[in-house]
Amino acid sequence: MNTENRNFPARPPPSFSSSPFASAPPPGVPPQSVGPEAVGFRPPTRPFTPPGPPMAPPAGVMRPGQPPLVSQIPGSRPPGPPLPSFPSTAYGPPGGGGGSFQRFPTPPPPFPATQNPPPSGPSPPQTLAGHLSPPMSFRPQQPMGPPPPSMTSGLPGGFASPPGPGFQQSMPGGPQPSYPGYPSNQVLQGPPKPFQSPSQGPPSAVSSYPSQTGGFSQHPGQQNMHPSYAPPPTSNVQGLVEDFNSLSLSNIPGSLEPGLDHTSFPRPLDGDVEPSSFAEAHPMNCHSRYLRLTTSAIPNSQSLASRWHLPLGAVVCPLAEAPEGEEVPLIDFGSSGIIRCRRCRTYVNPYVTFTDSGRKWRCNICSMLNDVPGEYFSHLDATGRRMDMDQRPELTKGSVEIIAPTEYMVRPPMPPIYFFLIDVSFSATKSGMLEVATQTIKSCLDNLPGYPRTQIGFITYDSTLHFYNMKSSLSQPQMMVVSDLDDIFVPLPDDLLVNLSESRNVVEAFLDSLPLMFHDNVNVESAFGPALKAAYMVMNQLGGKLLIFQNSLPSLGVGRLKLRGDDPRVYGTDKEYTLRVAEDTFYKQMAADCTKFQIGINVYAFSDKYTDIASLGTLAKYTGGQVYYYPGFQSSIHGDKLRHELARDLTRETAWESVMRIRCGKGIRFSSYHGNFMLRSTDLLALPAVDCDKAYAMQLTLEETLLTTPTVYFQVALLYTASCGERRIRVHTAVAPVVTDLGEMYRQADTGSIVSVYSRLAIEKTLSSKLDDARNVIQQKIVKALREYRNLNAVQHRLGSRLIYPESLKFLPLYGLAIGKSTPLQGGPADASLDDRCAAGFTMMALPVKKLLKLLYPSLFRVDEWLLKPSADLDDLKDVVRRLPLAAESLDSRGLYIYDDGFRLVLWFGRMLSPDIAKNLLGSDFAAELSRVTLQEQENGMSKKLMRLIKKVRENDPSYHPMCFLVRQGEQPREGFLLLRHLIEDQMGGSTSYVDWILQLHRQIQQNA
Ligand SMILES: [Zn+2]
Repeated sequence: MNTENRNFPARPPPSFSSSPFASAPPPGVPPQSVGPEAVGFRPPTRPFTPPGPPMAPPAGVMRPGQPPLVSQIPGSRPPGPPLPSFPSTAYGPPGGGGGSFQRFPTPPPPFPATQNPPPSGPSPPQTLAGHLSPPMSFRPQQPMGPPPPSMTSGLPGGFASPPGPGFQQSMPGGPQPSYPGYPSNQVLQGPPKPFQSPSQGPPSAVSSYPSQTGGFSQHPGQQNMHPSYAPPPTSNVQGLVEDFNSLSLSNIPGSLEPGLDHTSFPRPLDGDVEPSSFAEAHPMNCHSRYLRLTTSAIPNSQSLASRWHLPLGAVVCPLAEAPEGEEVPLIDFGSSGIIRCRRCRTYVNPYVTFTDSGRKWRCNICSMLNDVPGEYFSHLDATGRRMDMDQRPELTKGSVEIIAPTEYMVRPPMPPIYFFLIDVSFSATKSGMLEVATQTIKSCLDNLPGYPRTQIGFITYDSTLHFYNMKSSLSQPQMMVVSDLDDIFVPLPDDLLVNLSESRNVVEAFLDSLPLMFHDNVNVESAFGPALKAAYMVMNQLGGKLLIFQNSLPSLGVGRLKLRGDDPRVYGTDKEYTLRVAEDTFYKQMAADCTKFQIGINVYAFSDKYTDIASLGTLAKYTGGQVYYYPGFQSSIHGDKLRHELARDLTRETAWESVMRIRCGKGIRFSSYHGNFMLRSTDLLALPAVDCDKAYAMQLTLEETLLTTPTVYFQVALLYTASCGERRIRVHTAVAPVVTDLGEMYRQADTGSIVSVYSRLAIEKTLSSKLDDARNVIQQKIVKALREYRNLNAVQHRLGSRLIYPESLKFLPLYGLAIGKSTPLQGGPADASLDDRCAAGFTMMALPVKKLLKLLYPSLFRVDEWLLKPSADLDDLKDVVRRLPLAAESLDSRGLYIYDDGFRLVLWFGRMLSPDIAKNLLGSDFAAELSRVTLQEQENGMSKKLMRLIKKVRENDPSYHPMCFLVRQGEQPREGFLLLRHLIEDQMGGSTSYVDWILQLHRQIQQNA
């Protein structure tokens, strides 16, 4: 298949003028905001008017959980709008297109590569609103009030009492006697031979990493393997350092030379260091926070590309937050219209050239010569530069945001819509989740984007569904209970989703009363699937953001899930992957339906037991959303985290009803996409709601044997509705040179981007294969790449027994090891619960590069000495938090350390830490078991200083709110779970240490070298 035909002239000309995102959707595509060829905006009208008697305020009080009062209203069910049939090609990538979803192995594949329509499943969308016939049972509206204490649905036998405070058990099967690989009474079982275990010696047994000096002071200058580092002269390699770095390893594979200096191994202790030379050479490129190529040197031929064993592609974060002063400029082309290439639809950008005295411009992507509209005309100066260049950000800046005129809309831009689907069953109320969630939502009402157009609505559920009439004329909301789960309908469809500013009082009254209303609810059932369908029926007129708060396994109605659990016996078999994919096609089908109607879903999950995150998370995955997981939620422990993260979710700037496409020059094309989204056509990502915390990875393919152009251009375009109601296009443009030299590709490699693509590929692999296989794939890819690199240099240099790598990839082996030890991929059944794995997988698929790297190689730093210093401000966090290698030998038992992976903070108290410090920081709890202690500010300078530091660490990255855990050296198994298992350079529980990993790679590289 020749993509040229899709991207360039072969497109039917009429779609050029009508479809800004050139690929015309296939026939039958439902209302979208992409182009006018899609069906128009359906007016939000529903013929259903609730008949009088049953909807009148009831005489008695109806409460959830009571036997349903059945009201028969023959023929009064809202017929609802006809749902367009599901287009056969709208979401499935074309056969053999290489899209990431072909690899998604849900059996049976809901989106087969054969372009068949997805199976409609047990509940085809048509039944959602159609075929509404009596009998129906629903309960008339009723004033809100607490449910009676007489609700006695009873607890099922297996219902555990809420867990105690402290460390939440993340392992299946209860607490483990000791962390695998760690004797319960010995904490600092260091990595192999050359390491000294501080716990075995007296306190004076100082770590071989003098942590107070921030690294390896005995080898200054080596810790990051700076190019100037000259390795020991074990062979004639002095001249090599200009070409690459190397590690001297033993001549005998598998054994360590006594002198092997593992402290000299490269470690990303400065975090994500982006290649800077490329950005400097191309100042008009968009900033790397928006687009990062895996290598900034594009191979000129397929044969060269085939020798580049690393991923060839990019990571895009279209809405990344820019620091103050670097905001993306907003452009209004006004009467001239948006300037785009008439052939390939590229947006005008700094790399186009003007000719013919300014009357024509040449497209940098397809070379087409376009006319300059009269309104956009400018004379050229002697150098051919437009005279008005300085007033035209679109001609000087790699990132701009363009105001889109009406032809970029098929309906009026939607208002921001927040719809909440909240579990109010026993555990949801008991855990305090309901209270924290409602309080947080209430506190954010003033800051929801889009005032005064913002709309809001709620459905709650346990074994029945509860709808709330929020009409502004009411003084308090009216609740309607629907207990027929088999034939869902929506009562009062027009008053469930209301304008927030008009109904503000009703919404506040609702949020205040909801926790009280269900305070004594003992219903443990979860009609989640029916509730989801109901929410979909309310929202599908306009779209919006659906926030789901789920506290237990969906147990009733459509989409109910089995306790299939985490069966250790399945691990290692061919069926292993099935644990990690959605069990019921209902979830993927609902996600597809929601994406079609511009509904983005975020899932908040809270259960202390198995809730099948694999299935629930599917909703977020295919709607461009996010999974937030708080296992064993208790408001006293996790409340702050939920408050912060929910507030961030509600108040961050959100792009609504979006689609994203990335264009690139002739001869190459993006062939696969990886992240949370749904593909609408071969290259159009549907993103109902996207924000600054979401990134997407993609891989490139060379379509032609040989590229003849000296450069390749990339252009990301995100068409979206801003919360203010403007339709906009955010455009990021970059250029990269085409090279003929493999060495140059390696020199221009970006490890951060490569690791982002790799981790997504590995997580996808776990959805069709064993964990072992997924880890092996990463290892093999790294081996192949480094072997190729070795061969490249072997001709000129005697390499001896050295592992060589380009400076640009010096951290790649360590990150590769870290991917294999990350939660979605690590170990076996005993190493992470299935829900933990799946939740982490969904999260990692969406993370921007920096955030992902921090999670893979977290920071560990010592703070006790800094705390003792009389005064130290936090102006430069870097000075305080000097990062240490992630190995047990970094820990001195006299110290206090902070581990920070961006999601959790762990404060590790060394056994020999001065009691004064512990007293200052923990107050009267200083000697208590730390699982019961929450860190709180004490009335002394040291404590305040530490709290300020933690606050600053959290503010540095507000995308998640890291919870703070305290652990004392030797507290097992907590110490293992909280910290030791995350010291990824160590060998533990069957995993490989950094030293062994390097030796393994080296051995494999030398095979067939
Ligand atoms: Zn063009």
